[in-house]
Amino acid sequence: MSDKPRKPATRAVEAGRRKEWTSTPGQPGSVVNPPVWRASTHLYEDSKDLAGGRPNEDGHFYYGRRGGPTQWALAEALTELEPHADGTELFPSGVAAIACTLLAILRPGDELLVTDNAYEPSRNIALGMLKQFDITAKPFDPLEPENLAAMIGPNTKAVLLESPGSLTMEVCDIPALAAIARQHGVLSVIDNTWATSLGFPALERGCDVSVMSLTKHVGGHSDMMMGCATAAKPVINRIRRQAQFMGQVVSPDDAALALRGLRTMPLRLERSTSSALEVAKWLESRPEISAVLCPMLPGTRDHELWQRDFSGGCGLFSFVLAEGLDVAARARLIDALDLFGIGFSWGGYESLAIPFDPTPVHTLRAWPPGIDSGSGLGVRLSIGLEDAGDLTADLARGLDAMRET
Ligand SMILES: *Cc1c(COP(=O)(O)O)cnc(C)c1O
Repeated sequence: MSDKPRKPATRAVEAGRRKEWTSTPGQPGSVVNPPVWRASTHLYEDSKDLAGGRPNEDGHFYYGRRGGPTQWALAEALTELEPHADGTELFPSGVAAIACTLLAILRPGDELLVTDNAYEPSRNIALGMLKQFDITAKPFDPLEPENLAAMIGPNTKAVLLESPGSLTMEVCDIPALAAIARQHGVLSVIDNTWATSLGFPALERGCDVSVMSLTKHVGGHSDMMMGCATAAKPVINRIRRQAQFMGQVVSPDDAALALRGLRTMPLRLERSTSSALEVAKWLESRPEISAVLCPMLPGTRDHELWQRDFSGGCGLFSFVLAEGLDVAARARLIDALDLFGIGFSWGGYESLAIPFDPTPVHTLRAWPPGIDSGSGLGVRLSIGLEDAGDLTADLARGLDAMRET
């Protein structure tokens, strides 16, 4: 790492490219990218070497399950992009990262508080899977930080945060929530998939663990699955131990794809953010739309908080159809779109649209938000790298199709 603090775009290019991982025989640093190191078995020099023990850290080859240079390069790059982090653990998916992180920091009898606007599988892990370990979980309303303070009890050991919230896109006051958690000795874990550490330096904002689905922005090409947890010591050591107990490993091929994606991520995020803003502004002007849930959009409820805490956005946002429209109308809109694929996931180079109803999974607040409650029918868009004008033209065609019965 360099001694001068470099800007995120520069770090995204340089991070993780240690000379010893980018070498040809006898020539350290002679290739740009770490090769795909396929390895399971470590060979020892002799019996003495075998008996010597191995440090349990990235950078020391021990056995393939603990990764090799390709995975270490990715982990180190992700650590370097997250100010104040000491390490990163890689997982085969974002969900695996969330599940394993929670198992690492919680014990039987502990309580977890989970933000009401969490990603649905996270909520299911918290309220369902953790029960079998005698860990209880309760959702809390993230829009009122005092509410979190009131809910923290003697057994509360962790809080799971996410901002903007999945589907409903509310920005929460993460610095306030994380500070309350810390005051009470409670660890805060944030799902930082939306902004990444480039748009929201989570540890700097007071969180203890930043989890991301690398399947989204880091991969960026809809061709791989991966997740990560990044933290400072000693928390990262606990996560590492848990991951090793559970045999969590990612392939060097996928790590190379994620590294490749990471190099262009700042550029892709910039482009999808500006296109998303353009599309969001256009949607706001349409009579068929009652609310655009995009914190990057000036004038929206969460814009000021977003501006205060975030240094970047992305292409993912939602909108609500106006009063009088129904599920069939929403289906006509989505089915008429040419450039938007219909699919879950997001953060790829291609645009996607998906209908949603958050009421079964976000239970503490009335949906939809705001004064004009509209039809309550939500659509989430993931804006990709297509031309923004082409995307609005496609949406215009979809809205026309929606009105025709
Ligand atoms: C997709 C997603 C995940 C899960 O990631 P996978 O890699 O698909 O397991 C976690 N959190 C958020 C906010 C997501 O959108």
